[in-house]
Amino acid sequence: MWYNGGMKNKILVAGICGVALCAGAGERGIFGLYGDTPDAKHAWAVHDFNRPYPKQVETPAGKPPSDAIVLFDGTQKSVDENWCDAKGQPTKWRVKDGAFICTPRSGLACTRRAFGDAQFHVEWLSPLDDARKHGQLGGNSGVIPMGQYEIQILNSYDPDPDAKVERNYPDGIAASVYAQNPPLVNASRPAGVWQTYDIIFHQPIWKDGKVLHPGTVTVFHNGVLVQDAWELEGMGTHRVRRPLVPHATKLPWKLQDHGDPVPFRNIWIREIPSRWDNTTHSEMSAKEEDVRALREQTAARLFAQVDAATPDPKNVNGALEVLSYSLKPDYMAAAKKLCAGYEARLKSLSEKDLDAERTFVVGTLKGFNVLVKNKVIGPDDFSLCATLRQIATRKKWPVR
Ligand code: MG
Repeated sequence: MWYNGGMKNKILVAGICGVALCAGAGERGIFGLYGDTPDAKHAWAVHDFNRPYPKQVETPAGKPPSDAIVLFDGTQKSVDENWCDAKGQPTKWRVKDGAFICTPRSGLACTRRAFGDAQFHVEWLSPLDDARKHGQLGGNSGVIPMGQYEIQILNSYDPDPDAKVERNYPDGIAASVYAQNPPLVNASRPAGVWQTYDIIFHQPIWKDGKVLHPGTVTVFHNGVLVQDAWELEGMGTHRVRRPLVPHATKLPWKLQDHGDPVPFRNIWIREIPSRWDNTTHSEMSAKEEDVRALREQTAARLFAQVDAATPDPKNVNGALEVLSYSLKPDYMAAAKKLCAGYEARLKSLSEKDLDAERTFVVGTLKGFNVLVKNKVIGPDDFSLCATLRQIATRKKWPVR
C-alpha cells in the first residue's frame, strides 16, 4: 500500500504518526535505533527500549519496601519465625515494648534463613544504663553480615573533641567495619535515642582459590553515608588481622551479644544480586558468549515482528534495529530487500509527497547514522543511506 501515494499515503502517514515517532521524547516509536548499539560487553543499546523494565516496588513512607523480607516487626511471632541461636534453637533474646532485646551472654541472634548480598535495615539504641560505660563496654553489639564481618554497634556519641572521655579506637566505634575501617564521620546519636543503619553488603568473590573481588560494605548511619563501598580486607576479628577466607555464598546474618542489653526494632532485609551475576551487560563482569546469546535472542524476537515483504518505514527501521543486535545473513538479506524497496519508492515520489515523508526520511537516516557510527555497518553498505542523506541535505531537513 506504500506504493499508492496520494491520499491513501497521507492517511497511512497520519495513522503511523499516531504512534509515537520520536524516541527522543522518551517514548518508543518505530525508530528503535537511538543510542549507541550493543557491543561485546553490553547486550543492550544505550536507551534501549527492548531492555527488561525494572519491577515496581512499593515504598510506603516509614514502612519496609514491598519486596523486603521483614525479620522483626515488633512481635514475638516475627522472632520465632526469623531468629534462632547459633545452634538453631529458639533465641533467648526477648521482645519488650516492640523491641527485640539482647539477653546478655545468651549468644548471638541468628537469622533462620541464609542470605548473601543484601540491603539490611535495622534500628537500635544504646541503653541509658550503659551510657556511662567507656571503651567497648557501652552498649556494644553489632550487625554481622553472613556471620563473618561486623558493623559495630556502640554508644559513640561524642560531640566535644576536648572532653576528657576515654575514647575508643576509631575502628571500633559505632558504624566502623570493626577492626578495619572507622566511619567517615561519627553520625551517632546519644544513648537512649533510636538510630538507624542501612547497610549494603556485597560478599567477596572467589575464583580458583583467589579473591576476584574483596566485596564491599556501604553503611548509612542515621541517613549519613559513613562507609562508602569499603572493600573488605579480612574476616571479622579483634586485635589481629585475619585475611579473607572463602565461605558459603549464603549464610545467616547475626546480631552480636557483647554482654549489653541492646534493643533493636524494624529489621528487614532485601536480597540483592551480586554485581558479578550480570554476565550480559557490564564492563566488569560480562561474558562475551552470554552477551552474544542474549543479543541473538533479542534479534530473533524483533525480526519476528518485521514483515520483509512490506518495505515501509516501520519494517525498514525494524530490520535495521535487528542488525544492531545480530548480523546474521537472513537479517541482512531482509534489511537489504526492505531498504531497496523503500529507496525505490522514495525516488518515485513527487516533491510534495516527499515532504509528507520527512519524519520517516529523517528518522531512518538517524538510524543509519547510529549503525555507521557504531561500525555495525559501513557508510556505503546500503544505498538507501546515501539517498536519505541527499534528500535531507537538499530539503535542508536537520538530522540531529
Ligand atoms: Mg560489637
